Amino acid sequence: MSSSPPATPASATLRSDDSVAKQLFLGNILEENLFPYPEINARDKEMLGAMTDAIDQFLADKGAELKQYDRDAEQPAEFIQALREMGLFGLIIPEQFGGMELSNGAYARVLGQTSSHDSSVSLTIGAHSSIGMKGLLLFGSDEQKQRYLPKLASGEMIAAFCLTESGAGSDAASIRTKAVRNDDGSWTLSGEKIWITNGGIADFYTVFARTDTPEGKITAFLVEAKWPGVSHGPHEDKMGIRASSTTTVAFADVRVPAENVLGPVGKGFKVAMSILNSGRTGLGGGAVGGMRTLIRLASAQSKERKQFGQPIAEFGLVREKIAQMTVDCFAAESAVWMVAHLIDGGGSDYSVEAAMSKVFASEAVQRASYEALQIAAGNGFMREFPYEQITRDTRILSIFEGTNEILRLYIALSGLKGVGAGLSELKAAVGDIFNEPIKGFGVLGSYTGRRMREATGYGIDRIAHELSPRLRKVAATYEKYTVELSRSSDALLRRYGKKVADMQHAQKRLGDIAIDLFVGLCVLSRADSLLKQAHPAANEAVNIAEVFARQARRRMARNVRGLERNEDEAIEQLAGAVLAHDGYMWDVI
Ligand SMILES: Cc1cc2nc3c(=O)[nH]c(=O)nc-3n(C[C@H](O)[C@H](O)[C@H](O)COP(=O)(O)OP(=O)(O)OC[C@H]3O[C@@H](n4cnc5c(N)ncnc54)[C@H](O)[C@@H]3O)c2cc1C
Repeated sequence: MSSSPPATPASATLRSDDSVAKQLFLGNILEENLFPYPEINARDKEMLGAMTDAIDQFLADKGAELKQYDRDAEQPAEFIQALREMGLFGLIIPEQFGGMELSNGAYARVLGQTSSHDSSVSLTIGAHSSIGMKGLLLFGSDEQKQRYLPKLASGEMIAAFCLTESGAGSDAASIRTKAVRNDDGSWTLSGEKIWITNGGIADFYTVFARTDTPEGKITAFLVEAKWPGVSHGPHEDKMGIRASSTTTVAFADVRVPAENVLGPVGKGFKVAMSILNSGRTGLGGGAVGGMRTLIRLASAQSKERKQFGQPIAEFGLVREKIAQMTVDCFAAESAVWMVAHLIDGGGSDYSVEAAMSKVFASEAVQRASYEALQIAAGNGFMREFPYEQITRDTRILSIFEGTNEILRLYIALSGLKGVGAGLSELKAAVGDIFNEPIKGFGVLGSYTGRRMREATGYGIDRIAHELSPRLRKVAATYEKYTVELSRSSDALLRRYGKKVADMQHAQKRLGDIAIDLFVGLCVLSRADSLLKQAHPAANEAVNIAEVFARQARRRMARNVRGLERNEDEAIEQLAGAVLAHDGYMWDVI
């Protein structure tokens, strides 16, 4: 059975520039951007076919070596040289600078292929492209691009992204690395970054430093590793992705020429966030590649292993795991490539969708690695088998490029911001109504329409796209809960106002409802397209859409209920007591 290629429609443009995710909080399904599911374009299809074959040929018989790199916590220089020769450092760099100019979708698919063999390989390539030199692509001047991109495309220069410090992790705006402007316009950079991927092998760093200029607090700089004062520490001894280089990077009064400021002075925080937002599909693609491998391994293992006189694949509890891994993988893949499409299609407001796909895909691959190891059981626990390494390697995915906690809060707060803006517009409109009646009534009209819809279900935002009849019921779940999300967000804001900003338990519930809606709609759209194309595995895809919708409905119902009735206060008190006691308070002695 042929696997359907992921969609990478660089040529297709979006029909609406609104954010699909943010619109969900307003009770709208932005179906013009979700249906039909994006198709792969001809250029990407051709390039991907060749690239994935080349990656398989190169990595398939290197299992033992890759395992050794994991033990040694290092990729040898000749291995990195081979990655260069395959062109893997030039994936997203424009052709005019010697790169392959892959779309976001194709790039994510390539990282999926490398991750299906080894996560550390994806990290080396991904940290270079997704974050290390992405800022140069997004914000670099023509001169900076001419100077660096050809070397970055060939891998002569490897890139790293230097934001995190010992005192500044999730709170990235609190960095202490400092850059002071000199009289000649150059800057003096000093400070230390920690846990920098590619830190020990990079020649080119995108560095964020506090500048405290009138223009703003943080500025981004392009820094070369060979400059006086730049150094890095030894490779960290990590739990997973051990072969990927992670080090401290220190800057001791490094002189940075004025022409190496990246983007506007003082706007470095925006540069950092834009890089991270646009890089998340790479991570998602890698997670999907890992899941494909886990499903293949788990299938083979469960058919081969016999207990109680039959293959364990015959047992319901083993089959349940294999099916759930498949649902998770299809859902993550559908969301990741939809987000890539939103970016490739020219959308500008995709950061919430990117966060949703990152949270879902990272947790899906962690569940899958847990379950695949459980199917392999004792064998799974042995280092001779690949499961333990995959479990270690995938653990990082919910920690870096924004922890999943921070991203859930970001998703909820971004959605609530739109709802809140509607409410304050309403307040202003009531005040303005006699001065500017047309403007005022317009706002009131759309607001009261939404409220009525929430209260009565009348005028609910039905998906107008002509869906296969089998998928209508699935669609109804998302139509219903989109209204629930909007109603709950509205109710929460009216009841608590600005205090909502401190209500993390409620934000998590809203974030999770929104993730289920977005991922579920991506699954629905893809299943519908596969059915219409008469894909050989279309029936299974519809099956997945039905299973995902039922599971999502139960989760969403619980989260909606939890916004009204919950044990948040007791949980807060309990955490307070344990923290005050510095630990667990009971024993049986
Ligand atoms: C292997 C590896 C590679 C990395 N590569 C890079 C890199 O290339 N470049 C780079 O700049 N950085 C890199 N990092 C750093 C990474 O991005 C950070 O670890 C991450 O941002 C989290 O920061 P932290 O570990 O300091 O956790 P903290 O921010 O201290 O968070 C600790 C815990 O508290 C939670 N938390 C924090 N704030 C809140 C809040 N407001 N509300 C609720 N919960 C909260 C977090 O979710 C987390 O569970 C890497 C890290 C690792 C481990």
